[in-house]
Amino acid sequence: MGKYNVIIPAAGQGKRMKAGKNKQFITIDQDPLLIHTLRVFEGDLLCDEIILVINSEEKPEMEALIEQFGLKKINKLVPGGKERQQSVFEGLKAVEGDPVVLIHDGARPFIQTEVISKLVSKVETGVSATVGVPMKDTVKKVQGGLIEETVDRTSLWAIQTPQAFRCSEIVSAHKEAEMNDYFGTDDASLMEYVNKPVAIIEGDYENIKVTTPEDLLFAEAIIKKRKEDQ
Ligand code: C5P
Repeated sequence: MGKYNVIIPAAGQGKRMKAGKNKQFITIDQDPLLIHTLRVFEGDLLCDEIILVINSEEKPEMEALIEQFGLKKINKLVPGGKERQQSVFEGLKAVEGDPVVLIHDGARPFIQTEVISKLVSKVETGVSATVGVPMKDTVKKVQGGLIEETVDRTSLWAIQTPQAFRCSEIVSAHKEAEMNDYFGTDDASLMEYVNKPVAIIEGDYENIKVTTPEDLLFAEAIIKKRKEDQ
């Protein structure tokens, strides 16, 4: 299987975490959240390069972490934008050539390399791909505090990252979106915007995005379980 580059957007403010700092620096099991995420790619032989998208003011702190944890694959620290989509686009501009690129949130530390390999294989067949899991909850549309309708759950998936693309294809989609001032909540939606197919690779429910304070409890529990399973 071929290699890939990964773009890790980590330039958000993480306001929903209410930590008063970028949640990437919050410590989980003794190490910063972002370090857990970066280690997965640092240790994956198929990963050629990590492009880390950061808040410019946090550059010294990020550089210190990279040094402290001996991370060797981060050659580029790219300043992010106001929205996640803009941060990802800045990261994409730093990719050289036309490799398979993965886009993966810095705040999802539990991604497994088996899932990454499935994504890369899919893109090598010519189709973009994202990780997702079938919805467990019943989903309803709500307007003004009242339920409008129950959405048929059988076809609903909760979408995660990584999302994987041929670099030139996702760059075109980002360009088109930027030109039309279109904002999607993920990169797959930009491919949808330009009418390109995106395949789903079934991942697992442990691949949580650490977003709100209670997610830290789930994160600690996942780490504990993984240590016990070793
Ligand atoms: O806020 P949320 O957790 O949804 O953001 C997903 C990822 O995108 C996070 O890792 C966050 O740091 C990153 N992000 C970014 N630039 C922004 C907003 C979010 O790199 N402007």
